[in-house]
Amino acid sequence: MTDPVLLRTLPDREFRGGFAEVIKHAIIADAAMFTMLEKDLESILRRDRATLGRLIPQNIQIKARVVSRDERESGLREILNLGHTFAHALESVTHYRRYRHGEAVAWA
Ligand SMILES: [Zn+2]
Repeated sequence: MTDPVLLRTLPDREFRGGFAEVIKHAIIADAAMFTMLEKDLESILRRDRATLGRLIPQNIQIKARVVSRDERESGLREILNLGHTFAHALESVTHYRRYRHGEAVAWA
């Protein structure tokens, strides 16, 4: 499991890019988590250890839940790609120099 201490040492751009993916997962599959993200936004952005310690396992569970419901790859797990068609196009036209991956996802 990801150690919140490691997340606390990431450069801001990387942290925010990863957070964009977390927000996307909440939009896809967990309305309660989305509400929690809104409520805890300040402590998330200041990388509060306890908040990240709760958030990270919840986020991993979303992905695990979707993948386990789609063991035969019938297409449900494609929902995890929400925003990625646009993000990959944006990364490509900017030659992978302007945006970090998570930043491109945030624009989607
Ligand atoms: Zn992604």
